[in-house]
Amino acid sequence: MQIIFYIMWPFLNRILDFLFPFCCVSCENEGQVLCKSCFLSLNMRDLAVCPGCIEESSFGVLCQNCSSLEAWKYGLDVLWSMFTYEKGGAIAKLLHLYKYEGLQAYGDSLQNLLSRTFNVQIPRTIALNIDLITWVPLTNSKRSKRGFNQSEAFANTLQYPEKLVKLLYKTKENAPQMSLDKAARITNVLGAYAVIPQQKHQLIGKKVLLVDDVATTLSTLNECAKALKLSGADEVYGLVLARQGV
Ligand SMILES: [Zn+2]
Ligand SMILES: [Zn+2]
Repeated sequence: MQIIFYIMWPFLNRILDFLFPFCCVSCENEGQVLCKSCFLSLNMRDLAVCPGCIEESSFGVLCQNCSSLEAWKYGLDVLWSMFTYEKGGAIAKLLHLYKYEGLQAYGDSLQNLLSRTFNVQIPRTIALNIDLITWVPLTNSKRSKRGFNQSEAFANTLQYPEKLVKLLYKTKENAPQMSLDKAARITNVLGAYAVIPQQKHQLIGKKVLLVDDVATTLSTLNECAKALKLSGADEVYGLVLARQGV
């Protein structure tokens, strides 16, 4: 019965969406989940910080200083974040309704936002250089409980289906990062991500785009980048819908 419910949920959602029209999460005007004027007032980021020191850096590439650090050898090479994540802001509300209430229309809106901003803001020459696109995984039990992985859904909207591969799996269920302070977040994700053994051969010398929904301290993205690089990936570019703080 539960399985049927999970299978039917996306269809039920569409029917409910039709019967009960949406209000904008920001201004509450009826019509769309995010109206045009609230969309235009979203705080877009300019993609210009180094993933190591968070100082300005063109196109979000690791700065010279950080790239010379041994400690950063296995971290992200690039960080692209499309919006600023603010508690109570439009992006936070859309994400909450999608992830925790399972309302697909809010997910559609976010996927649309991510793919549109990615296609507009990342030069095509750089995007074409990416060999593989993957996402931050959930544990199997969490994924089946939620019915989807939002980061996987975001990766699916980037219009490069031939590059999309599930490369990582989560080795353990740890505490939600949002509930921890900065130091605890680093230890919380240690060893929590690994490359699927059958996929390792694909990674040698490759440039991988790693997609996630929200980043704060980058601990999760860096732990995933480490797993990918230890399996032979040459470079790992992080792409998040929104970045909190800084
Ligand atoms: Zn609005
Ligand atoms: Zn730096």
